[in-house]
Amino acid sequence: MARLVQKFGGTSVADVDRIKIVAQRVKREVDAGHELIVVVSAMSGTTNQLVAWTNQTSEMADPAEYDVVVSSGEQVTAGLLAIALQAIGVPARSWMGWQLPLKTDGAHAKARIQGIDLEQIKARAAQGEVAVVAGFQGATEDRRISTLGRGGSDTSAVALAAAFDAERCDIFTDVDGVYTTDPRIVARARKLDKITYEEMLEMASQGAKVLQTRSVEMAMNHRVRVQVLSSFVDRPGTMVVDEDEILEKQVVSGIAYSRDEAKITVANVSDRPGVAAAIFGPLADAGINVDMIVQNVSRDGQATDMTFTVGKADITRAVKVLEANRDHVRYERIVSSADVVKISVIGVGMRSHAGVAQKMFQTLADKGINIQVISTSEIKVAVLVAEEYLELALRALHSAYGLDAVDAA
Ligand code: ADP
Ligand code: ASP
Ligand code: MG
Repeated sequence: MARLVQKFGGTSVADVDRIKIVAQRVKREVDAGHELIVVVSAMSGTTNQLVAWTNQTSEMADPAEYDVVVSSGEQVTAGLLAIALQAIGVPARSWMGWQLPLKTDGAHAKARIQGIDLEQIKARAAQGEVAVVAGFQGATEDRRISTLGRGGSDTSAVALAAAFDAERCDIFTDVDGVYTTDPRIVARARKLDKITYEEMLEMASQGAKVLQTRSVEMAMNHRVRVQVLSSFVDRPGTMVVDEDEILEKQVVSGIAYSRDEAKITVANVSDRPGVAAAIFGPLADAGINVDMIVQNVSRDGQATDMTFTVGKADITRAVKVLEANRDHVRYERIVSSADVVKISVIGVGMRSHAGVAQKMFQTLADKGINIQVISTSEIKVAVLVAEEYLELALRALHSAYGLDAVDAA
């Protein structure tokens, strides 16, 4: 007998028939004698619709009310799954974030979990009742509903697994594991049996949305065993593990991409001490995250261009902040573009191997793809390229690093 957490993503609970299939899967574990917490997402497409409605009502929606609206999708699926379980004889009860409570800070729309009270659930689980928890949501200190950022049900699941001392946290989704790159774009992507926490963290933070970044962070910190698998087929998925559990280390184990990038160039700023602080200080104060940065060498020793990337949603605000600071920054003009993607090659083996970046640059050059910005970390090389080259670049890099599956089309 074990304690398990199972999380079902949007496609796994997309309609009533699928919810009934999920109920059968949960029943199997209950019949095997396990104690279960099940975490559900909203039906696929629902959260997008809810976000669109809040944006249509007001572009400046109060984040606390945004959370009231967008958290509602998970309430529906939690209730439906509890009903589906009861209908097949499995005792079950739904739980909203505020009912546990799952406590978060007050950063609406991107709240962080501060603690979870599992007293009631633990007692009921010991009696054989399944807890069906609405993912993605929590409650703030002043008892408002909060949400954990898009994809946040993964983080709800891992946090619950840590608090429940679960043996494993199974994340059921629409692919059967973590692949070397997004299998929806590269047909030759290969499923990984195992991936290290560190690589998974880098993959997620570079855009591979299969797991929310914070969920991996939390799994790593609390040593939660996470498995990513499909709710449509019955086979083992990918385990996220410690580095020492992987015997054969690849130099490059995966390639991630993010369409959520926008590029801003501040042209002809004076090349003097303090210019970077003058540009990025106000952006930071406005809560805008800057990712990649390049500063060109100044042509005449006086003026330079500063190029950087922000999330697509922040582009208008970032330009406004720079315009408001024009007197202070002193630049000629601002050029912005949202037709860009970031592609990152990732692998812990990079620490001890040279030439990974060079291979990336050469491969892209051979395809005639221009690199606009570059950034690196210990286990990652990332480039920004025009969006139209995404698929071509991903496929070429996937082959170049020897990641292609042998048997795929
Ligand atoms: P869910 O709704 O179950 O949370 P998501 O859409 O959030 O599912 O995440 C699953 C998706 O992640 C897949 O459909 C796939 O397109 C995408 N994805 C991106 N990179 C990868 C990768 N390296 N391995 C597997 N899936 C990936
Ligand atoms: N329903 C939320 C979203 O679409 C949370 C999740 O599915 O993880 O972002
Ligand atoms: Mg997701």
